[in-house]
Amino acid sequence: MAISVEQAIQCMLERTPVLSSEQVTLERALGRSLAQNLYARYSQPPFDRSPLDGYAVRAEDLVGAAPDTPVILQVVDKLYAGSVANVSVGPGQAVRLMTGSMIPLGADCVIMQEDTDGGEEEVRIFRSVSADSNICWEGEEYQAGDLLLPGGQLIDAAAVAVAAGAGYRMLTVRQQVKAVILSTGDELQQPGEDLYPGKIYDSNAAYLRVSLQQMGVEILDVCSVKDDTSRISAAINQYIGVADLILTTGGVSVGQKDLMESAILQSGGEILFHGLSMKPGMPTMLSVKDETLILSLSGNPFSAAVPFFLLVRPMLARMVQNSVWEPRWITVRAATPFEKSSPTRRFIRGTCLADEVAIPSKQANGQMRSMIGCNCLLDIPAGSGPIHVGDTLKALPL
Ligand code: AMP
Ligand code: MG
Repeated sequence: MAISVEQAIQCMLERTPVLSSEQVTLERALGRSLAQNLYARYSQPPFDRSPLDGYAVRAEDLVGAAPDTPVILQVVDKLYAGSVANVSVGPGQAVRLMTGSMIPLGADCVIMQEDTDGGEEEVRIFRSVSADSNICWEGEEYQAGDLLLPGGQLIDAAAVAVAAGAGYRMLTVRQQVKAVILSTGDELQQPGEDLYPGKIYDSNAAYLRVSLQQMGVEILDVCSVKDDTSRISAAINQYIGVADLILTTGGVSVGQKDLMESAILQSGGEILFHGLSMKPGMPTMLSVKDETLILSLSGNPFSAAVPFFLLVRPMLARMVQNSVWEPRWITVRAATPFEKSSPTRRFIRGTCLADEVAIPSKQANGQMRSMIGCNCLLDIPAGSGPIHVGDTLKALPL
């Protein structure tokens, strides 16, 4: 019996394991899900520092400084970024500073080089500034002990910068989800081969591979097998207990060469559901064996893509404990019409710009060209008539 997508997700999540964690270097952390809260070990910046090239001075010494009445101070030290301040600034004194250097004791502000004559022994200062001017304070960005990145943070370039800036070389992250893609069908040829009569190129394997890679999944293998129960079963067996997810395409419907269910049973898989009450992707099947989930999608490219996005995102969110993969539906308005009625719940592709969605007229399940530029799936409830411009729709950004 066909179940709703929501029931399917529920049923899937009950059998979806949370992956364990591992330590990886920052260079290998991109796209991974942080498995622990990351706290600051030092304050940032770790010391009061100068944001510019200039002189550390006492604001009270600069009172009245102007281009015609410069204040002249004695330069008692010079500091570069990375050097340690040893001399303190007394009345009538200044310390030459370069950007990033420590603020020496005694000084309460920095005057920029452009407001001085740049002197080395003594310096003429042409402007006054108030105390605390031009200082980046210790701990101004964060204090030692502050939470920098919460567990579940997706590691992107900014997160890598924050972790590196806080001195972390290793991060504790969820294991990467490991997936295998298995396309099935006697008609399939691989891109690059000559096309023989009656055959088609396998686009699903390539599509699912890159879609999974975009979601940070490690692809263990991509293979294509003929419509043959034993061969499909053998290909699946190879990765049971090894992959977290085996994605298959083709052979899930009711035709005489639709052998996926029998192949899964031959492999000892437990079928969790077979059939979703929606179009496309109605014959979608989910099975499990030894903690490996096997999601079997229809062969038609768009019929595979729809349940792929609807089911794999929440599956990943659970496995790596990362809410960024949780589907977030938004409300949009149709900018173009869609002629067909939808007796059953239907998902179609669209291109959202702000809260308006353009719906390509070509929506056939076997066609992917109109998917170019599409960035969302639209959820059309069962029993809907044609969609008119201005109608409100639920969209899942891809
Ligand atoms: P099936 O789900 O096996 O009944 O296949 C449904 C339709 O999708 C048929 O027209 C197949 O030729 C086509 N098809 C199956 N597998 C693929 C694939 N990997 N790439 C592109 N089209 C496919
Ligand atoms: Mg087939």
